[in-house]
Amino acid sequence: MSLIKMNPIAELDGDEMTRILWAMIKDTLLAPYVELNTEYYDLGLPNRDATGDNVTHEAAAAIKRLGVGVKCATITPNQQRVEEYSLKEMWKSPNGTIRAALDGTVFRTPIIVNNIKPYVRTWTRPITIARHAYGDIYKATEYRPTCPGKAELVFTGEDGSCFRETVYDFECGGVLQGNYNKDSSIASFAEACFRFALDAKQDLWFSAKDTISKKYDQTFKFIFQEIYDAKYKAEFEKAGIAYFYTLIDDAVARVMRSEGGMIWALKNYDGDVMSDMVSSAFGSLAMMTSVLVSPDGCFEYEAAHGTVTRHYYRHLKGETTSTNPVATIFAWTGALKKRGELDGNTALVDFAKALESACVKTIEGGVMTNDLALMCPGAKSVSSEDFLLTVRSNI
Ligand code: NAP
Ligand code: MG
Repeated sequence: MSLIKMNPIAELDGDEMTRILWAMIKDTLLAPYVELNTEYYDLGLPNRDATGDNVTHEAAAAIKRLGVGVKCATITPNQQRVEEYSLKEMWKSPNGTIRAALDGTVFRTPIIVNNIKPYVRTWTRPITIARHAYGDIYKATEYRPTCPGKAELVFTGEDGSCFRETVYDFECGGVLQGNYNKDSSIASFAEACFRFALDAKQDLWFSAKDTISKKYDQTFKFIFQEIYDAKYKAEFEKAGIAYFYTLIDDAVARVMRSEGGMIWALKNYDGDVMSDMVSSAFGSLAMMTSVLVSPDGCFEYEAAHGTVTRHYYRHLKGETTSTNPVATIFAWTGALKKRGELDGNTALVDFAKALESACVKTIEGGVMTNDLALMCPGAKSVSSEDFLLTVRSNI
């Protein structure tokens, strides 16, 4: 069989157990079928340290240039990691750096298999969470007054205008918080959501609390609606999908009763909370795909979980681990499928789909890693390596 050819994508290697899985996936499942054409960037912590984190910036630029990237999980260093790896600096989160460079929105979708039942009975199709990854309480200024006093909201315009309003006349101590967001960031978020919905051919829901937050949340609602009416309404109608805004409490109630199969766009904090709820309800973080989509149409695929440190330490001791490689495999298939779609390379798209089906078939056939076997009575728990070999025999 001749190898499938492809145009280049950016490949971002990572750390610990996922780095081990990365190499195994390439050897076992990709190289035998595809003439892998990647620009390789080693984002493993030792190389980030050696390059003064330049490699992360170069990798982000490569994703922008090539349009498609695939990323392995990476360590975000804390003080303990600085000591463990004798780092020159506590380098920033690579995901944060790449997200800032691409101005992207993160979409997370569970991978569904028929022998692992979601905790919510009615959810038969995946629910994708689209989280705005900028601003609000994540960029807030906070203050804790401890004596009586007046708190005010003040804005001084460069044009000489001024806004000043009392937030509260404190008669005792209390708490204060100043949040902001930017029209440009909200618009990028909306654009990414509309494009993703068209790509996935699924309805898009957006929810916030505009009845209470009459300026802040209402601005989000209006920007979404303006962009939808001006640019996407016709395409949505043609694709037979819907966009609507609804209050977040109404959305929660409707999602719980739904069968899934929609994209649910949420503000930063709401998305943080709801994505943990949705992923737990579907079973496991190791069965969750994650893609960062930029407003100008670049895509970075990764797994939603981390570097699985505890398994890595066992691996270093020579033990065989049963770490779930599915989300990392789907990061690769996502990137290959997107590359194929952009280039009209149907052989590549078909291969990526076949590999995804082989993963699902393997698990549905009762062969899985330990994290899933614990949720699936009667299943055979195998090592990562044996799982990959079974997937290969199922391609
Ligand atoms: P984690 O790597 O996601 O692992 C937490 C636990 O979840 C594991 O110990 C394991 O539980 C289970 N788990 C996660 N993925 C699994 C898989 N594929 N197969 C089987 N079990 C899996 O999170 P963490 O331990 O909090 O973080 C470790 C490192 O990852 C940190 O340095 C963090 O900075 C980094 N991180 C990176 C990313 C990213 O690059 N996107 C995201 C999150 C965290 P058991 O041990 O009970 O089996
Ligand atoms: Mg969270």
